[in-house]
Amino acid sequence: MNTFYVTTPIYYANSLPHLGHLYTMIVGDTLARSKRQRGVETYFLTGTDEHGINIERAAQQNGRTPQEQADYVVSYFKEMTSKFGLDTAHGGYDVFMRTTEPFHAEGVSELWRKIAKSKTPKGNDAIYKGHYEGWFCAPCAEYKTEDEYQKPKVEGDPPLCLIHERPLDRVSEESYFFRLSDYDKALLSVLESRPDFVRPESRRNEVTSFVRGGLQDLSVSRLKSSVSWGIPVPDDPSHTMYVWFDALTNYITAIGYGNKEREQAVGFEKFWPAMHLVGKDILRFHAVYWPAFLLAADIELPRAVVAHGMWVDPAGRKMSKTLGNVIELDVLHKPFPIDVIRYFVLREMVFGQDGRFGYEALIDRANSDLASGLGNLSSRTLTMIARYGDSRIPSGVIPEEKLLLAKRAGVDTDETIAGFVEHARNQFLEHLDNLAFSRALEAAWSVVARVDKMITDAKPWDLAKDENQRQTLGAVLYRAAESLRWLTVLLHPVLPESSQAMWKQLGLSGSPGQVNPSSLKWGELKEGAAIGDVQPVFPRIDKAKVMAEITGEKDVPAKPAEPSPPQEHATQADAVGITSFIEIDDFAKVDLRVGQVLSAERIPKADKLLLLKVDLAEEQPRQVLAGIAQYYEPEKLIGRKVVIVANLKPRKLRGLESQGMVVAASYGEEGRPVLATFTEDVPNGARLK
Ligand SMILES: [Zn+2]
Repeated sequence: MNTFYVTTPIYYANSLPHLGHLYTMIVGDTLARSKRQRGVETYFLTGTDEHGINIERAAQQNGRTPQEQADYVVSYFKEMTSKFGLDTAHGGYDVFMRTTEPFHAEGVSELWRKIAKSKTPKGNDAIYKGHYEGWFCAPCAEYKTEDEYQKPKVEGDPPLCLIHERPLDRVSEESYFFRLSDYDKALLSVLESRPDFVRPESRRNEVTSFVRGGLQDLSVSRLKSSVSWGIPVPDDPSHTMYVWFDALTNYITAIGYGNKEREQAVGFEKFWPAMHLVGKDILRFHAVYWPAFLLAADIELPRAVVAHGMWVDPAGRKMSKTLGNVIELDVLHKPFPIDVIRYFVLREMVFGQDGRFGYEALIDRANSDLASGLGNLSSRTLTMIARYGDSRIPSGVIPEEKLLLAKRAGVDTDETIAGFVEHARNQFLEHLDNLAFSRALEAAWSVVARVDKMITDAKPWDLAKDENQRQTLGAVLYRAAESLRWLTVLLHPVLPESSQAMWKQLGLSGSPGQVNPSSLKWGELKEGAAIGDVQPVFPRIDKAKVMAEITGEKDVPAKPAEPSPPQEHATQADAVGITSFIEIDDFAKVDLRVGQVLSAERIPKADKLLLLKVDLAEEQPRQVLAGIAQYYEPEKLIGRKVVIVANLKPRKLRGLESQGMVVAASYGEEGRPVLATFTEDVPNGARLK
């Protein structure tokens, strides 16, 4: 039996989901729907990783038990997947996996026991007890090596996590180790013999060089006295399993590994191995540690580990809470239908590379490709069938003697259009199976463009005036409607809701999801069949209105206010244009002063920041950090007059206090900063009003 099993990562239940989570789910959902449509039995997994020190800490902070904390996050995740049509009820995931499920604990223990009993390729015990001492970042749930942390400013202080910029915990304790160092050759041989095992190729190279660099044994337990929220090590309950060992194993326990009932209900034998979709930030866990565990347990390796890129903002900056540019799903959900979001993320991100996400780009694409493109083709075709054909599908046959006339009118012959659409279908499916969603959609839209052109050339509205052209008119409309039928079937995995609506308007029964695109045949749209009610499938989005709504949304803090984010330069609030006016009193609250740069230097390990000393004619010069290092040589700034927001509350960046902010314009896609300055002489400390 041909089966397909696809997984997203299970998400760590210490924070709420965002665009990155949604994207991976959309990718998994699209693949699963596409395979299912082609008669493959599929299983699509998403879920949450609920153990570990972070959940314990988050629970403590929120006055909950760890289980309550996990339940809270899971309820939010489930609500989100339902809103975005990704849950089982909407034809989405088959399981929302939770690592707190009892059957999971059984399966993980089984895997541990199996590995503990096994020997490495070099004949050693695969798991052994030792002593671990190292720097541990709780949010990363990872021990950090020297190149993965920032040395402390003050000697004796703990180093900082490069990702979280928080102090690391010194951990020294008894621990079980997985002898990863014995698996380098085995992993390299997998990477070499299976070029598709890690995709795309750039990621495969990254993993290969990581393994070639030598592997260190992996600590796979913590003492229960340090981490109690987790699965105990079998036969040694004084230890808790490392959260990644626990989490990765979900991919097999979910389908029945180590639990008979679950095996019967789903089927480990039936569905394993899986295709794992992951963000590039967790590639090492999935492409090195997880395969090594499976090798040790003599379990077949995953079908593939596929890493996608990250969403960055329109200026190309990483999305982070600190920058305040994270796409919140509540904000995203309100104005945009799910299909519009699905289309945008699949079309916009070249799979494997980083993609830019901006609301304006989303609206522009929705309006051009969906409203004016596919949606318009559908409504103009069906409206003409209603008007000129009494709402019945016309005959597509052009009699021999009318062929030349039709050709002159710009109408494709049956063979030409059928060949074109079949080719696009084949391209679409091939690209989709290779996860080249962007190219798959381009192939589908080539049909939209072709049919649009045929209609524009043939001018059905003119043909309708000439009785002699009756059959040519019918042929144009038939070709357009039949192409739409094909597009609706092809696009169903990408646009599940709107393809269903288009299908109904074409007068077809059932669902396009039940039609196998591989077996579509040109000409199966029945002549004489009645079409449905014609309605716009993708209404135009009013950009100004929606942008104002989104901006308003952002101004109202939905959650308890967090400490305001540190600003790297003064250009972050301008992405959406001016949307509301302020009173003069509001402006008066901002104290802008003229300052002169006394010194400027780069900050080690912060490639964007400059540390400035600025004279505002105060007792002491101000220390100000500015995110302009990529565009300004520090030496050239010395002596320069700048504008400083002087009454901005001091904030810390990279452990350094910034006493104010430099004002700069920002332009271009990258948000290039340009410092505000004066062409006339002006004393330091003068106020701007
Ligand atoms: Zn960290």
